[in-house]
Amino acid sequence: MTTDTAGTPETHAFEADVSKLLHMMVHSVYSDRDVFLRELISNAADACEKLRYEGIADPALLGDDPQPRISLILDAEAGRLTIEDNGIGMTAADMGETLGTIARSGTKAFMDRLATDAGKADSQLIGQFGVGFYSAFMVAREVEVFSRRAGSDAAARWSSDGLGTYTITPVELADAPVRGTRVVLHLLDDAKSYAERYTVERIVKAQSGHVPVPITLFEKPEAEGAAIADGAALWLKPKAEISEEDYADFYRRVTGQYDSPGRTIHYRAEGRYEYSVLTFIPGTKPFDLFDPDRKGHIKLYVRRVFITDEAQVLPRYLRFVKGLVDSADLPLNMSREMIQDSPVLAAIQKGVTGRVLSELQKLADSDGEAYAEVWENFGAVLKEGLYEDFERREALLALARFKSTTSNGSWRSLKDYVADLKDNQTAIYYATGSDLDRLATSPQIEGFRARGIEVLLLPDQVDNFWTTMGIDHEGKPFKSVTQGAADLSLIPLAEGADKAAAADAGAVDGFLAFAKTALGNAVSDVRASERLTTSAVCLVAPESGMDRQLEKLLASAGQLPQAALPVLEINPGHALIQKLAATDDGDALKTDFAHLLLDQARIADGEQPRDAQAFAERLDRLMRRAVG
Ligand code: ADP
Ligand code: MG
Repeated sequence: MTTDTAGTPETHAFEADVSKLLHMMVHSVYSDRDVFLRELISNAADACEKLRYEGIADPALLGDDPQPRISLILDAEAGRLTIEDNGIGMTAADMGETLGTIARSGTKAFMDRLATDAGKADSQLIGQFGVGFYSAFMVAREVEVFSRRAGSDAAARWSSDGLGTYTITPVELADAPVRGTRVVLHLLDDAKSYAERYTVERIVKAQSGHVPVPITLFEKPEAEGAAIADGAALWLKPKAEISEEDYADFYRRVTGQYDSPGRTIHYRAEGRYEYSVLTFIPGTKPFDLFDPDRKGHIKLYVRRVFITDEAQVLPRYLRFVKGLVDSADLPLNMSREMIQDSPVLAAIQKGVTGRVLSELQKLADSDGEAYAEVWENFGAVLKEGLYEDFERREALLALARFKSTTSNGSWRSLKDYVADLKDNQTAIYYATGSDLDRLATSPQIEGFRARGIEVLLLPDQVDNFWTTMGIDHEGKPFKSVTQGAADLSLIPLAEGADKAAAADAGAVDGFLAFAKTALGNAVSDVRASERLTTSAVCLVAPESGMDRQLEKLLASAGQLPQAALPVLEINPGHALIQKLAATDDGDALKTDFAHLLLDQARIADGEQPRDAQAFAERLDRLMRRAVG
């Protein structure tokens, strides 16, 4: 191997994150070392695609070598594996930027996640991530990268043993590819099989058969090459010719995930515009699902040329769908910015969005269990569409699934809900809050439970928003069980439900009025409740106010300076309340009771008593009385 240098080597330290990652690599958090080859081939293919794109505007970059190719060159004797491409290449500066840092957002996110949750540093987690170039150090004691950027008349060599520093050196043109990148792996003693034909061929067939660039294998540096992958675009092949493994392999390449696709959507749209679509619903939840930028993952191709992955082909609430769209109608030489505004892209966006939703609906209709899994993973994202995509709200409502007070842990659709409406039931009732168990046992739900009325339990943050948009379904509005008066009087109690003892209405009203005065401006009202059967009290939001959960959420985000005063609802049938109403003990005692009842309601909602000191004193007085 030639390592004559045409310039002085410059040594640099890796970014701290890279060092950490390298350390993990070398200590093999990956149980499956084979993946390094997928990563390097993937980079080579990306480089070829970048050149293909730049070559449209500047054909001179392609020179007399327009066909993209990837070569794998084995040298068993020297214990060396070389991966070479004729893609875009890197300048010395590029190398410093891209091979010394973790630019790639996925890898960075992965590192961040490890930093916060070290316990999860198991191979299962890392197995979901494509970890890129540095995986080479799992199998190599030294990695050399020779590269020449397309159109440049200089070449450089990057090298490192992966232990903390790397070196960049300008080299003679003869020592680098004419264009593109050559990655030379000096294999570790226990990784020498990666210089053998059998192993490499097996891995490429299994992992990289569908990169859109042909791959040639050279058994020895001077040997004749043999094609081991044809570089055909999988998405343009007829479905009948594609096996499940082909799809899985392709999925891993385009998503950089190592799991398997949950669903595959592959079709060709014909008509006004022609385009091919190959997209996947991942089998597991990707780590970046709730990143604030809510970035999509559909790559846009034009006649097999990769153009951009920033085209927002799908709405944000479908950002979990990954894959590509290849258009036959967009002009190749259109700038990425102009593509954004093109009517062709608009038609594609509309078409693909509709198709993804209809595929989901088909799955929901034909295989509830498989659909439940999709919903389990991505339902919280899909629900964002309920408030963002007015046009498709009906379709999304049909796809939505919920846990409820009567569902016993299984998923219910709105269709199921409406089919089980009680006579005289006028609304679709729901409760929001992050803890499903607490929701299911919250006092506000008692009266609904006693009447057999189903209450949807909504645990996701997004539920606080779409439910407030005045959406209804089959003429039934969504109504929070913690808001406004619950008009349940027209719906009879279910058989067997405890009927509260008839109250002395006059006496109870007297206590309500007393409590209201005693509590002053801690509440906006104190009233008799229809929604309570077992508990004595609960808090609800006033009719016109904001739902209490949403209010808490906004308040915790610092967005709501002043929360609206809640309504304290009191169960007139409750034995304690009846005794209180009847007692002729002094006002001091009743005042204590009123405050304690309010604090009890707050505690049931997962809040603190407003004044811990006063709470303790009142409780203390009461306990003394009880024992004294
Ligand atoms: P990713 O491919 O996700 O960006 P990698 O760690 O695999 O992350 O690669 C880091 C970067 O190094 C790439 O984004 C690219 O800029 C550069 N790179 C790696 N291999 C090549 C190659 N064969 N040709 C050109 N650039 C490359
Ligand atoms: Mg990569």
